[in-house]
Amino acid sequence: GVDWENSVRQSGLSRSKGKRVLVTGAAGFVGTHVSIALKRRGDGVVGIDNFNSYYDPSLKRARNDLLRREGIFVVEGDINNAPLLRKLFELVKFTHVMHLAAQAGVRYAMKNPASYVHSNIAGLVNVLEVCKSANPQPSIVWASSSSVYGLNSKVPFSEKDRTDQPASLYAATKKAGEEIAHTYNHIYGLSITGLRFFTVYGPWGRPDMAYFFFTKDILKGKKITIFEGPNHKSVARDFTYIDDIVKGCLGALDTAGKSTGSGGKKKGAAQLRVFNLGNTSPVQVSKLVSILEKLLKVKAKKQVLAMPRNGDVLFTHANISYAQSEFGYKPTTDLQTGLKKFVKWYMEYYSSSKGKKSAW
Ligand code: NAD
Repeated sequence: GVDWENSVRQSGLSRSKGKRVLVTGAAGFVGTHVSIALKRRGDGVVGIDNFNSYYDPSLKRARNDLLRREGIFVVEGDINNAPLLRKLFELVKFTHVMHLAAQAGVRYAMKNPASYVHSNIAGLVNVLEVCKSANPQPSIVWASSSSVYGLNSKVPFSEKDRTDQPASLYAATKKAGEEIAHTYNHIYGLSITGLRFFTVYGPWGRPDMAYFFFTKDILKGKKITIFEGPNHKSVARDFTYIDDIVKGCLGALDTAGKSTGSGGKKKGAAQLRVFNLGNTSPVQVSKLVSILEKLLKVKAKKQVLAMPRNGDVLFTHANISYAQSEFGYKPTTDLQTGLKKFVKWYMEYYSSSKGKKSAW
């Protein structure tokens, strides 16, 4: 109780001249990078994360150590805990909420569907409920996902394309989140911006994602599986480097609030926006593997299998012109360059004492 309250009080947020941002999922991959970027440019940041064990919690603890060194405090708690969130809003008049906490991962949704409902639906509603009654009301920027495009066969995906064919429960909960955002904007006048991230990768990334466990398995000499669709086309992703995603998050945050009157919306009305944040340059997974082989200087043992119906889609490809026009979003890191930075981090982290202790 009192300990974390004091830590929040001492984090200097009330004195911060910039924005005061609550980052949910702050010990997560994207949350860590976004929190550091906000803090370094002078905004006040407090995080919340439940440090769950969906993937190696010691990696989340290590990210938290990094955050602490940057002067960022992360409250340990669940976004479904309404009294805890309300207490946080009593301690700090947050101007913005960067809502990144979620149950991520497409395939795991078949194993633990309830965790997706808990974090991505109930959790989102709880965050919005608390924001709705906060005074002042904060502007909200939250992570949706490229997975909402589902089985859409039109590429590149643009924000106006159909999102009514989710291929996984994960995708369905993100799509539901977008509908819930609409309701809270409509009834309570909350300003809400959804960001559809496209396969984010980089240092401090998620061990459940292919580029990460391919690296691990290639180094171990373990066989990796590449999935392909009809016509022997390997699955392709619009891999987007974390620094580009961070710039997109900050751009969305900095333009969040009341409508400027563009796009036909009444000036001063609470915004409801959704943006693709991708790289606009999809790469086949077979190519990802060959880049990793070169960077690691190890030949991968591969098997190629037909893609099962496990929630994954064949390809993703973002049209980013909307984010470009609204806040100048422009990714600059290609997959080769970004993976080089990831591999460098991976080697350093897993040879350090902290990394060696990792459970997986
Ligand atoms: P992550 O799993 O590393 O981060 C999410 C964090 O939220 C974790 O640290 C987790 O402990 C925390 N969390 C989960 N449920 C919680 C709860 N109920 N209460 C409190 N904390 C909770 O994932 P990430 O890759 O950093 O993703 C961030 C956001 O972006 C998520 O909403 C995710 O769905 C979305 N997204 C990510 C990608 C990607 O490629 N990384 C792509 C599309 C969308």
